[in-house]
Amino acid sequence: MARMIDTHCHLDMLEDPASALGELGLTQLVSIGASVQHAHNAIALAEGHPEVFASVGLHPTDVKDSDSPETRAELEALSLHPRVVAIGESGLDDYWAHDQLGVQREAFLWQLDLGRRRDLPVIVHTRDAPGGERASQGCAEIIKEANWTRGILHCCNGHAGLLRAALDLGWSVSFAGNLTYKNAHAIQEAARFVPMDRLLVETDAPFLAPVPRRGKPNRPGYVRYTLQFLAALRGLSEQEAEAITDANARAVYRLPLT
Ligand SMILES: [Zn+2]
Repeated sequence: MARMIDTHCHLDMLEDPASALGELGLTQLVSIGASVQHAHNAIALAEGHPEVFASVGLHPTDVKDSDSPETRAELEALSLHPRVVAIGESGLDDYWAHDQLGVQREAFLWQLDLGRRRDLPVIVHTRDAPGGERASQGCAEIIKEANWTRGILHCCNGHAGLLRAALDLGWSVSFAGNLTYKNAHAIQEAARFVPMDRLLVETDAPFLAPVPRRGKPNRPGYVRYTLQFLAALRGLSEQEAEAITDANARAVYRLPLT
């Protein structure tokens, strides 16, 4: 099997991180470190495994309890580590933390600025309240305001205005396991629309397992199921879709060729 990259997973949250590497032809992955503790975990995994790279940042659902000058100083220092390839995940979450959008916005703007200062892409998480679009609209406004040109719309939710804002900035758009879900019409529509050279696939493991593993703990190797679904949507062979998304992943994170 050819190379395969999972552009977004939480490797340290799996029960058996080391055995997840290499499954189903996986060759490289980015482990997200969206708190001080997770950032340390992700960097430790990256130091121990040549195929693992790390991000560092502050997740929007953690901002209220953990954002502080000390937290920011530590994450800024960790972001200088040579195995850190991105900032985040950051963004707005109106589902789990709907009363905290103000503090989330501040932390998001700080991380966009950190991405610019480090010349790293910023990974953006967006989750709306049921039936709402406040987080999506807010994220669109914030990334336009920050105007940083390296970024990834992670776990694309299909919101047209946010997608437009990200593409206009030159960002990449990443599709997770929920692309494969039966009622994911808006996400599937977005996956048909995104230019070929901006398409990424990810697992967000251990969350959001794709069909046919839906409901089970997700694993980085399952990115292949999402890739197969995306290939069918775009009328590509699996090999073509894999070559395209892997080249895009290496470009956005500036990963070395293996
Ligand atoms: Zn994530």
